[in-house]
Amino acid sequence: MNYSNQNFESTHLDIEYIEDFPKYFDELNYFIKGTDNAYNNLLVETCKEFNLDIFAPWQLQYAIHQYENRLQKYNDKFLVSNIIPLLLKTFKDLGFDFKEDDIYVTTTGFIDNISEVTKYKIIFYFNQDKGIKQYGRYYDIGNVDLKLPGKIEVNLWDKGIESYGIVFHEFGHAIHFLNITNYKYQLLRTNFPTYFSEGLAKIIESVVFDSDWIHRNWDIDKNGVDEIIKAKAILELFTLRINAFLALFEISSYDLKDSPVNLWKYLSKNILYPQVDLKDLFIEQRAVLDNLFHNRYSAFDTVYAILIREHLKNFFK
Ligand SMILES: [Zn+2]
Repeated sequence: MNYSNQNFESTHLDIEYIEDFPKYFDELNYFIKGTDNAYNNLLVETCKEFNLDIFAPWQLQYAIHQYENRLQKYNDKFLVSNIIPLLLKTFKDLGFDFKEDDIYVTTTGFIDNISEVTKYKIIFYFNQDKGIKQYGRYYDIGNVDLKLPGKIEVNLWDKGIESYGIVFHEFGHAIHFLNITNYKYQLLRTNFPTYFSEGLAKIIESVVFDSDWIHRNWDIDKNGVDEIIKAKAILELFTLRINAFLALFEISSYDLKDSPVNLWKYLSKNILYPQVDLKDLFIEQRAVLDNLFHNRYSAFDTVYAILIREHLKNFFK
């Protein structure tokens, strides 16, 4: 087998991507700096509201839990049974041409009449198992010639704004993949960096946490909508800082000259717990550190997906 030009061109993409990587990494640092003020203010506010003397590592999960409760305050209004009609309406308003006939909804995972499968663009498999946590997945069958639909599988409880977030997110993946209809791009289909496709899904997901959208579709007053949006923004800020912490720990530990414990303490002070000088790590932290150090985990995908979403949102504003 010889290396034709075509072979060279297909690997060329990867080379460019690796050379660009440090640039993305600078942007991550820039993003952490950009959220420093908001994060410091949030910690002060959190301490005041929940009567904490100081925001220490052992308070993180408690605080996240409290803000999750706030996000769920209006959950009774967000019925899962209304997701599909609202999804279709929302995308119609945004100019996407999805009709009820394009979608097949099943609660068993099977299609009644398999010969009709090519009629649909998306198959929704709704699982409602309260015993396990909510999740969503998108399966790209990815063959333009066979015209097979994409498949969205979700496990949702019966209500909650987060259920809407999950379905809209997966629908974002569906829109992305269903729009790759050019034969040439079929080759790239399996080779997207995760953060690229996640970034697009996160844009669609963010519609659910848009105050105008909530206001238009639900009978919740302005204060209520503000509460939801604020709780969501706070939870996202925590998630972003945690992932940024893990991503920076990961990248910095590649050419480590000092001990990983010192690196952990340094990043901890700079990114997650500015009010605390950690003397030593406690057992759980050491376990996470050990795990990270020996089994690499990439937090980049999550962080970059959010970066892409924010860039695109600013671009379209
Ligand atoms: Zn996703």
